[in-house]
Amino acid sequence: MTSDAFKPGDGFYRHINHKWMERAKIPDSRSEYGAFDEIKMENDKKIWSILESTKEKAPSVAEIPKSHKDHLRFYKYIWTHRDADREELFIKSITGQLLACCNDHEMARMVGWFCGSMVSTFIDVDVEEEKRSPYYMRNTLSPGKLTLPVRYYNRKSLHRTPIWLSYVSYVRTCSIELGLPYLYKAIEAETQLAAIIGSPTNEDAFKERHGEGLKAWLPEFIWEEFLNGMGLESHWKQHMWILNDPTCLKRLMKWVCHAKADMIAAVLTLHMLNGTAKYLRPAISQASFNLFRRSILGERSPAPEKTRFIDDTSDSLPEILCEEFTKIEYSKKKLSQIMDMTHRIKEAAVETMRESQILAKRTMSQVVEKIHRMKVTVGSPSVGSPSVGSPSVGSPNDNEVTDAPYYPDSLIQTKFSIYNAKIRRKLKDVGKPVNRGVHYPCFIVNASYYEEKNHFIIPWGILQAPFYMEGKSLGWNYGGTGSTIGHELTHAFDAEGSEYNAHGKFRRWWTRKDRAHFKNQTRKMVQFFNKFTHCGKHLDGEKTLSENWADFGGLLITLRALKKVLGERGATEAEVKKEIRDFFTSYAVSWRDRLRKRAMEYKMTRSVHSLAEDRVDRIVPHFQEWVDIFDIKESDPLFIPVKDRLKFF
Ligand SMILES: [Zn+2]
Repeated sequence: MTSDAFKPGDGFYRHINHKWMERAKIPDSRSEYGAFDEIKMENDKKIWSILESTKEKAPSVAEIPKSHKDHLRFYKYIWTHRDADREELFIKSITGQLLACCNDHEMARMVGWFCGSMVSTFIDVDVEEEKRSPYYMRNTLSPGKLTLPVRYYNRKSLHRTPIWLSYVSYVRTCSIELGLPYLYKAIEAETQLAAIIGSPTNEDAFKERHGEGLKAWLPEFIWEEFLNGMGLESHWKQHMWILNDPTCLKRLMKWVCHAKADMIAAVLTLHMLNGTAKYLRPAISQASFNLFRRSILGERSPAPEKTRFIDDTSDSLPEILCEEFTKIEYSKKKLSQIMDMTHRIKEAAVETMRESQILAKRTMSQVVEKIHRMKVTVGSPSVGSPSVGSPSVGSPNDNEVTDAPYYPDSLIQTKFSIYNAKIRRKLKDVGKPVNRGVHYPCFIVNASYYEEKNHFIIPWGILQAPFYMEGKSLGWNYGGTGSTIGHELTHAFDAEGSEYNAHGKFRRWWTRKDRAHFKNQTRKMVQFFNKFTHCGKHLDGEKTLSENWADFGGLLITLRALKKVLGERGATEAEVKKEIRDFFTSYAVSWRDRLRKRAMEYKMTRSVHSLAEDRVDRIVPHFQEWVDIFDIKESDPLFIPVKDRLKFF
């Protein structure tokens, strides 16, 4: 696996992955190919086996499936029999309603309908936990997103880039092919909206308003119609609302109040097409591919039909697929091994932070409480009981499955119907205490930490080779899956996570001195990352801080946990050395990745994660164990003098 061509001290990532990178080819339909993609392809095979064994069945119009199997059967039928002409009829029925809006009241209702169907508009509607007592679930309004990142509209110099040109061509194609002349105005409308979104505000600010008070906040907006369109009827008035980034939100909503109807219709139509163009006639789906996949990500051809079916069903029916996936993946042995590893990593985190002796006694005792109270879900975020390791097999909760009507003639209509049902389900929680359950597709190759729930999830999807392999050494599995667990745990103590206490409440619980110390440590990390370049571009240490912090802290506490378990088992010095070598090797393997140039540029400007190579080479040199075992010399490019190495608390 390793290569002599690259010494560890020259570039550890390349030293470990060099041969794999020479062999690995990025499929034409992907922008990137790495360990995560290798796993996804294996997971896809399992999902395919579920879909393949499902017998398709035609629903009648607006039929609500009675069982999970029926959801899959109906969906498969609609997917298999979809037809661009019929899909376009549905799109036209919506644009027809938009064009028929005669006054502001009707238009406000349509905007509400789009929000309730999860089409992104000028405004995003969601349900979130409020940030202070009594911490109930609240309706939230936030500024929406545009088709492209804001800078493309605001900087004329970017109007010659392939991304902007594909955007213009995509809008034009949709406009001509669908016979919607007004759609072309979406470019002008989005440019006006970009000027609003791009002007300075306080993004982190939020306001709370009683439903009755929304009118006083923005009198010219027709709230009743907007909320009726969303399906909220009258009880919205009694509820408390959260308004995120209220300055920007108000400006956007004022734009809606004053813009001409065709400008509003143009943006709504475009945003509806952004998610659905791939199901329409070839000219439109091709233009959409050119923009979203080719220009932005550098992909060369659309994914095969089979992959698209898998991805599409995963997107629409995650909970149902998750149940089936769990039946395939469930392993008691794996669960207990991961739970043991998690337990040990938690303890190592407590020891690491205690040992630093930096945090005040009061803060430290809350750190310990936060780690001990932290909920961990391994495998499947069990429907109903998201507690440690409990599998969801055979215990589906009816609430988790949508009661959406299905439409045999249109996949898009069915998808809108499913989204709508999901939003309705979320809205049921409004005004109630926080629902601590999580919805997480257990087949995805990712893990997450939820600060407002103090809960992290390591789903089946990521507990796969090369991250986790049953026959491999302890060091290997700690370096792969263990460091992911450590990473998620560390998010509880990054810039955002540390604002939430052991109960997941947004509260200042650090002393002023502790906070200042934390800021000092993280500032050093920002400066450290800023020093490096990738393909001639400086890394953005500020933007990637929390993820880098989680990578570093995660690796540190996981290594500590590994050393402790080896000590308990009485491992010899040589054995310990071998395990630690496996640990760093497996960590570097888990980040192996090949990326197209376009995708890399896009990632560097947008992602909060560092690029794979930096997640290895900017992290491991801070570890003396790595220096010792891989025999790193002071003259090696990656070597960092002890006094300059980063510290975790
Ligand atoms: Zn992360």
